[in-house]
Amino acid sequence: MSEELLKASKKFLVRYGGDAFPNLFRSAKGTIVTDSGGREYLDFTSGQMCATIGHNHPAIVEAVHRAGERAFHLFSGMIPEAVAELAQSLAEDWLPGKLERSIFVNTGSEATEVALRMAKMYTGGYEVLALGGSWHGITGGAGTVSFASDRRGYGVPTPGVYIIPEPNPYRPYIPAATFEESALLNLELALKMFDMQSAGKGAAIIVEPIISAGGVLVPPRAFMQALRKAADDRGMLLIFDEAQTAFGRIGTKTGAEFFDVVPDIMAMSKTLGGGLPLAAVATTADIEDDLHAKHFTYYTSHVSDPLTAEVGLAVLKVIAQEGLIARANEMGGYLRRQLEGLQQRYEAIGDIRGAGLLLGVELVRDRESRLPAHELGALTTARCFEKGLSMNIRRRPERGSVWRIAPPLTVSIDEIDRAIDILDSALAESLD
Ligand code: PMP
Repeated sequence: MSEELLKASKKFLVRYGGDAFPNLFRSAKGTIVTDSGGREYLDFTSGQMCATIGHNHPAIVEAVHRAGERAFHLFSGMIPEAVAELAQSLAEDWLPGKLERSIFVNTGSEATEVALRMAKMYTGGYEVLALGGSWHGITGGAGTVSFASDRRGYGVPTPGVYIIPEPNPYRPYIPAATFEESALLNLELALKMFDMQSAGKGAAIIVEPIISAGGVLVPPRAFMQALRKAADDRGMLLIFDEAQTAFGRIGTKTGAEFFDVVPDIMAMSKTLGGGLPLAAVATTADIEDDLHAKHFTYYTSHVSDPLTAEVGLAVLKVIAQEGLIARANEMGGYLRRQLEGLQQRYEAIGDIRGAGLLLGVELVRDRESRLPAHELGALTTARCFEKGLSMNIRRRPERGSVWRIAPPLTVSIDEIDRAIDILDSALAESLD
């Protein structure tokens, strides 16, 4: 049966990119994913960074049943009770500063579309600044501000989009005495260039608080504060794309809290749906009032769906009740120490960075040259999978090969130890 299905999958599916796995998959629970043959793998990618409270948490399953008894879906203009509750919970318990009004959509890409649409309508401008190495999604607008992967072949670059070189402590574009200085110099230069080219129609600066797909880069706080000022000085809105950073993974409620910088618009997704498609975009009452006066619209088939809102409510409750934010720091600290143990034995581990349970491990040919070890990364990732550990490697030709290590926040010490053992033996074999 599974052999036949595997053949069918090769015959009938569009190959949409990403990793090609040798098998099909059947189920997932907690940190474990199981393939069609019944083999288990430790999932250190949390699915696509969504299963932050573990796959198929009982509270999520219960929420889906509850929605089954109430409603999965309604006319887009009808506000389900669960949606009202979720908006209130975000405003009262999770969002920083004056962020208090939310809209609920499906994916991270869609959240970016909403955020950009809001910023453009609010400011009347269209110019957007985004970081090199950023990933805000794959759809029309979101794709134009995403630079973590090669964009050649998708048509002309978008007029009005400008890149700020991303701060990278390991591979700085402009080296300086400190990482902070280097990051600020990059920004200063990029803003000067932008001001020369700008038509004075600035709409937004959009950033991930931690640049994840671009290599797990944590900017200095002064850089984030400078972005806040850069947006204010130019009448642009600051958008934080918190697809990966919101709701505990980095050891704080949000990236905004991590840096103590409040954006005008915050996009959230991944963790919020716990594996179901749910995203939110939040802004202030002032901005929302202005948008409403300008007839902002966003009705889609699945805006404000009750099914995913029920799940979102359940996810947020689990994070609070199970103390998962503190656990991200605790387990992240443990995992980091184990990785540092490996670093002492493997010259190829050039850098370990990140926050909470969003960690990056950069592979190099040697520590002096810091040349990226792309082949070693690909080979070892495949070996890890063979041995029962699923890991994600972020490969950018000149910016390095970086493992993004991000298990569910519910991961146990035993699971971390098993993953480290696998990584250790896979690295040893690859380097043999
Ligand atoms: N923003 C960030 C920061 C992301 O990491 C991603 C997904 N990798 C997206 C947006 C896009 O989300 P989605 O894939 O759900 O459209």
